[in-house]
Amino acid sequence: MTRFFDLRTDKVARNSFSGDFDAAPKWGLPGIKDCPGCGATWASWGDHYPSVDLSDLPERQAFEEARPEPFHEFVRLRELIRPLAPPNVALSPGTSFGPLVGRASGQFAPFSGLESCWILVRRDAFDSLQAAGVRGLLGCKTELRFRQKTPPDILELQLEPRGLLHPDCFPPDLAPPCTTCGRLGLRLPEDPILDGTSLPTDTDLFRLGNYSTVLIGTDRFKDAVEQGGWTGISFRELPVH
Ligand SMILES: [Zn+2]
Repeated sequence: MTRFFDLRTDKVARNSFSGDFDAAPKWGLPGIKDCPGCGATWASWGDHYPSVDLSDLPERQAFEEARPEPFHEFVRLRELIRPLAPPNVALSPGTSFGPLVGRASGQFAPFSGLESCWILVRRDAFDSLQAAGVRGLLGCKTELRFRQKTPPDILELQLEPRGLLHPDCFPPDLAPPCTTCGRLGLRLPEDPILDGTSLPTDTDLFRLGNYSTVLIGTDRFKDAVEQGGWTGISFRELPVH
């Protein structure tokens, strides 16, 4: 039986490396302003597709500034992205694309960025995980500008939405999602439970489709990380119903 782990920043490892960065994804979908269904103005956080390149899109400038837009304009912009994005993903308001762009400095831990729901990985750790047979690793280039002479080679992993939280961990009075914009007013439960029927069997790394800030790795991923001695991630096993 595959086991599944919630992935968080390992603060001890983070404090033992000097690496730091201030970066943001190159492009993003706007948020929604005053949804005609539920009235909310909102954007999600977590969904990021570093492999999706908008460079050749004539309207790419419309994706350069984070802002809310009326629902119809959000939908128009979302449909421009659809052909470039992985198939069957929701493309929520605020979904971001392309490399992380910004400044960086210092020595990076093997893994970092998890506090922002990204997984940055050093090339040596990435190569080791690939050699160990970890499935579903998609390493994407970053555009981090280092001041030091020999900058580290830092990739970002693309994590796609694959599994779901099980309704057993939702509050009993939770309202259904908005039928217009899909917003689900759910706070992350203290003790998340995964929905067994939703979990992928072909990848060792993903994020949850109904709570995209939750990053999940399998026991195969955890074993490869620990056997390589790669630090920067703490693991918490989640129950599956
Ligand atoms: Zn709505």
